[in-house]
Amino acid sequence: MLDVLVIGGGNAALCAALVAAEAGAKVMLLESSAREERGGNSIHTRNIRCMHDEPQDVLTEAYPEDEYFEDLLRVTKGITNEALARMVIRQSSNCRSWMRHHGVRFQPSLGGTLHLSRTNAFFLGGGKALVNAYYRSAERLGIQIRYQSPVVGLECKGKRIVAALIGEPGAADRDDVSADWPVRERIEAKSIVIASGGFESNIPWLTEAWGEAAANFRIRGCRFNRGRVLRQLIDAGAQAIGDPTQCHAVAIDARAPLYDGGIVTRVDCVSLGIVVNTAGERFYDEGEDFWPKRYAIWGRLVAKQAGQLAWSVIDSQAHGRFMPPVFPGEEAQSLPELARKMNVPVEPFMKTVENYNAAVVPGHFDHAVLDDCHTQGLTPAKTHWALRLEKPPYRAYPLRPGITFTYLGVKVDEDAKVLGFDNVYAAGEIMAGNVLGQGYVAGIGMTIGTIFGRIAGEQAASHASRDHASS
Ligand SMILES: Cc1cc2nc3c(=O)[nH]c(=O)nc-3n(C[C@H](O)[C@H](O)[C@H](O)COP(=O)(O)OP(=O)(O)OC[C@H]3O[C@@H](n4cnc5c(N)ncnc54)[C@H](O)[C@@H]3O)c2cc1C
Repeated sequence: MLDVLVIGGGNAALCAALVAAEAGAKVMLLESSAREERGGNSIHTRNIRCMHDEPQDVLTEAYPEDEYFEDLLRVTKGITNEALARMVIRQSSNCRSWMRHHGVRFQPSLGGTLHLSRTNAFFLGGGKALVNAYYRSAERLGIQIRYQSPVVGLECKGKRIVAALIGEPGAADRDDVSADWPVRERIEAKSIVIASGGFESNIPWLTEAWGEAAANFRIRGCRFNRGRVLRQLIDAGAQAIGDPTQCHAVAIDARAPLYDGGIVTRVDCVSLGIVVNTAGERFYDEGEDFWPKRYAIWGRLVAKQAGQLAWSVIDSQAHGRFMPPVFPGEEAQSLPELARKMNVPVEPFMKTVENYNAAVVPGHFDHAVLDDCHTQGLTPAKTHWALRLEKPPYRAYPLRPGITFTYLGVKVDEDAKVLGFDNVYAAGEIMAGNVLGQGYVAGIGMTIGTIFGRIAGEQAASHASRDHASS
C-alpha cells in the first residue's frame, strides 16, 4: 500500500510530496490536469514573502518576524491564528535553501513592483519554472505522478480517510460538487495530503455568493480548482474556516480569457487616471492609496457595477508610468471619440471628465509618494495623483473582476493535520484561511503553501511509518 497520497499538483502538493519522499515514504501525487497544464495557480506566481533579520541573497535589508506579522494583522484585521501564522513566518526565513536544493532559482525583484525587494524573493522564470523544477525533482525521487486523475470522492472509515476515488479526466471540469460522479479507480494510502486549492474556478459555486454577477467574472488562475475535494472534506466532518462568500479579486482586462489570464491581464493604471462605469460615471476614489495596497479592492468595486464592466481612462501623462498590460488600450485623440470606442454614452462621460477636471487642485505630482494632487468638492474625490485629463492621446482599458482565490478552507493544527481526522493533512490554498482570514499580503500564498506543504509531507510520512510499525 502507498504510504502517502497527495491530492493536487501545485506548489503545496509538490512540497508535501517531495518532503514525504525524502523521508523515505512511498508517495503518489494525483493531479486533475494533463501534464501540459499541471501546476495549478502556482504556475502564475512570481514570488514568495520571506522574513529575514539581515540582507539575504536576493532580499535587501531586514524583514523581521514582528513586522511580517504586523503586515498580516493589518490586512486580515486580526482574523488569523497567531500561533500558525508565526510558525509560517519563522519557517519562511530558511525555506529557500530547501527550494534551491530542488532546483528553484531566485532573482532580485522586478522593476515596477513597488517596495517588494525587501520582503519578496522572486522566482527566476516565475512559478512555471518553480513547478517544473519540483516535478523534475519528484520524478528523480521516484514519486508516482498521475495526471488527468481528478479526485471525485474520499472514502472514510471513522476518523481516517482510507482511499481516494479517481473520476474520469472530464470530471476535472465539472462544477456540481455535491452530485455523485462516476469513479474510475480507488487508491488506498496510509496518509492523505490534500492540496487541491480553493473553489475559485467554480462559477456556479461563486454564484451562490455573488449572484448572476459571477457569470461575468474571470478566473485569473487555472480551471481545475473546482472545490470538489474541499466540499467532500467538509461533508466528511472537517471544520470549515474562512468566509465562503469572500474572494480575492482584482480588476483585470475584460478581454482576458475565462481562465489562466495570469498576471499580465491585470490593469495597473487606475491610480493614474479615472475609472468610469458603462454609464460614464465615476464610482470610487482612484487615488485613495498606493496601488499595491489598493488593487485588490477594485475587483469587488467593478463587480458591483452594471454588467460588471468599467473603464480605466488615462491621458498621455500616464503613459510609461505603469506596467503595461498585455492588451493595448482603446486610443483616441479626443475624449468624445474615446467614449464612442468604449461604447459609453458621450454626454455623461464628458460631464464626468469636465467635473473631474474642474475639481482638480494642481499640486506636485509624484507617483512614488501620496502626493498633494487631489480634487476639491467632487464626489467621489480623487485624493492623490489627480491630474486633469487633457493631454491626448487618451487611452481606455476595459475592466472586469478577476478572481485570484477563495477563502473557504479547512481547519488544521500546527502539524497541518485536518482537525477531526487521524491521517489527513492539508496544505496551501485549501487551508490558507487559518492564517489569512481575509485580505492579502503579496507573496504569502506561496509562503503558506511551501511551509504547510513541507510540514504536511513530513507529518504524513511519519504517520505512515507509525502506521506501518503498528500493523
Ligand atoms: C495570477 C495569479 C498570480 C499570483 N501570484 C502570486 C505570487 O506571486 N505569490 C504568491 O504567494 N501567491 C500568488 N498567487 C496565489 C497563489 O497562486 C496561491 O496561493 C498558490 O499557488 C496556492 O498553491 P496551492 O498548491 O494550494 O494551489 P494550486 O497551485 O492552485 O494547486 C491546486 C492543484 O490542485 C489540483 N486539483 C484541484 N482539484 C483537484 C481534484 N479534485 N483532484 C486532483 N487534483 C485537483 C489542481 O489541478 C492544481 O494542480 C497568485 C495567484 C494568481 C491566480
